[in-house]
Amino acid sequence: MKGKIEKLHKLLKNKEISPFSLTEKYLERIKEEKPLNAFITVTEKEAHENTRYAEKLFDEGKDTLLSGIPMSLKDNLSSCGILTTAGSNVLSDYYPVNDAHTYACLKKEGAVLLGKNNMDEFGMGASSDTSFKGAVINPLDEKRSPGGSSGGSAAAVASGCAVYSLGSDTGGSIRLPASYTGTVGLCPTYGALSRRGLIAHSSLLDRVGIIAGSVSDVSAVFDAVNRFDERDMTSIKGDRKKTYGNLSDGVKGLKVGIILDVTDKAHDETKKHIKRAAETYRLLGAEVSDVKVPAWDKADEIYSVIATSDAASNLARYDGVRYGERGNSVVDTREGFGDEVRMRILLGNAILTSEKELSLRKKAEAERCRLAESFKEVFGRFDILISPSAFHTAPLPGENTELLKDYFLTAASVSHLPSLSMPVGFSENGMPLGMMITAKWMNEDVILRVAYAFEDAMQGEIYKKGAEKFEF
Ligand code: GLN
Repeated sequence: MKGKIEKLHKLLKNKEISPFSLTEKYLERIKEEKPLNAFITVTEKEAHENTRYAEKLFDEGKDTLLSGIPMSLKDNLSSCGILTTAGSNVLSDYYPVNDAHTYACLKKEGAVLLGKNNMDEFGMGASSDTSFKGAVINPLDEKRSPGGSSGGSAAAVASGCAVYSLGSDTGGSIRLPASYTGTVGLCPTYGALSRRGLIAHSSLLDRVGIIAGSVSDVSAVFDAVNRFDERDMTSIKGDRKKTYGNLSDGVKGLKVGIILDVTDKAHDETKKHIKRAAETYRLLGAEVSDVKVPAWDKADEIYSVIATSDAASNLARYDGVRYGERGNSVVDTREGFGDEVRMRILLGNAILTSEKELSLRKKAEAERCRLAESFKEVFGRFDILISPSAFHTAPLPGENTELLKDYFLTAASVSHLPSLSMPVGFSENGMPLGMMITAKWMNEDVILRVAYAFEDAMQGEIYKKGAEKFEF
């Protein structure tokens, strides 16, 4: 399936639409969809500056696929001179002096920034309701959450307010919202995309990733931001494989593992669709068999210990001297934090401050390596693993289907593996269900090729028709 980026690029290139009219159309759309609360800031001025630059690129014949394409950023990604809050009152007047490396890469290609997306405070949550700006609404059903913490990014893409969005994923924050909104979300290998300019939650686990409306759109953006950054200590050196040109290479001969015991923990409808996807891969020529990842069940605990202790030390900088408003006391100074963040700071500091508890952090790190090793062994036999992205669809308030919400996501997170969530079909309630595709380190090209093969075989059946209210 051709993505929206390629379609729009063609229209821009052939001068059937102008970059300015495209930008205006999207800015209008954002106004119409204000009740979704998907944006904390709309960046009209930046959008117009970016558009002018895109026009120049087209005039000079230096345009790329991303030139003039309207996009957004989760509000924990820095944008120079533009309010960047990470969904927190503590940063309600923070204007960074640099662009995040990933945004800088896109800007160079003429990407048009429409705005900054609402999110769970500092990326802590799974429903996009811990933001100081209030909860985000799922565009597919206003009673449901779009998931979190990159819920604003997912809602913006699913409602046609942005062609794509950069988000962040520490323990599922791109993949869960993608699953709940019927979009495609890629959490790349840890260190593939630079974390410079991403407001830190857990330095050992944070990754910048992409949410878009199709596999090819994710691939086009990934190729532009998948770059070594000498100013990020954890950026991976070495060659990066391009993904866009090889999407339709098919899955013949690939070894696909379906993680059955994990899949069996999901809702019956999810299970049914994941098994149907496995069958589709078999029909397309892949070798499909059942696989077990022995240490999978430990991932949630490993995640909790590492993420909270990292968060406690990363958030120590909001002390009213370096960042944040200074109050009369420590308590006053830290008053800007919401309840979820406070709870995690307390938990994290408890882990880091007592001798006995500190061993918990060490234990979690050892277990993290063990889990990564067990994946390594599995990837000696398989090219790709498939499993659900979530238990079921986005829940209604009070519904208990958020059960095991991190369970499907954290194993790839703590193992630093790339993984993608894509729609796999619909529930009887009309909402999308998600499939997760995981590969070995730096094998995003294989993930995207495998995802594309399924999307192609389903011929659009996995995407909601008419969800997008305007087309060009
Ligand atoms: N839901 C998880 C949490 O609240 C993951 C969040 C994330 O990936 N940023 O910690």
